[in-house]
Amino acid sequence: MLPIDALLDPDSPATGELVGHGPLPAGIVRDLLRATGGKRWWRRLFAHPGHGGLLGGDPQKRRFDGFLARLIDLRDHGRCRDPYCDAAIRHHDHIVQSRAGGPASLANGRGVCARGNYVREMPGWDVETVHDGHGEHPHTVRTTTPTGHTYTSRAGP
Ligand SMILES: [Zn+2]
Repeated sequence: MLPIDALLDPDSPATGELVGHGPLPAGIVRDLLRATGGKRWWRRLFAHPGHGGLLGGDPQKRRFDGFLARLIDLRDHGRCRDPYCDAAIRHHDHIVQSRAGGPASLANGRGVCARGNYVREMPGWDVETVHDGHGEHPHTVRTTTPTGHTYTSRAGP
């Protein structure tokens, strides 16, 4: 999250907070924005009406691209969120699938390897968000396998 004023003022000393990750200097957030689509994206960012923090992009967006994809990569440290998988992120997976109305949002996104994105579509697999990354808990995802085992993946510090 970043106060919207800080996003627009290059001299602002404010820091942003990457939800589920920690503080980020406003300059880095602006650099990320510039590197991933720049001003086209700014118009689609929403600020929280109360504290002015940046909440996310356009909820109608169906794909994780640009800025949002980079945020997910940072939060997930570039590594697949599937249990016992440490492969590099190749896909940005909708935890609640877009066909089921799941938005392309930071809370509903997770980085997965190429395999992970297909395995979760198999019968008996379920993936759900336990914590959205707001507040004191890191972004937390629970995966249930066809044998009924559950695994919890928390975004790292
Ligand atoms: Zn994986």
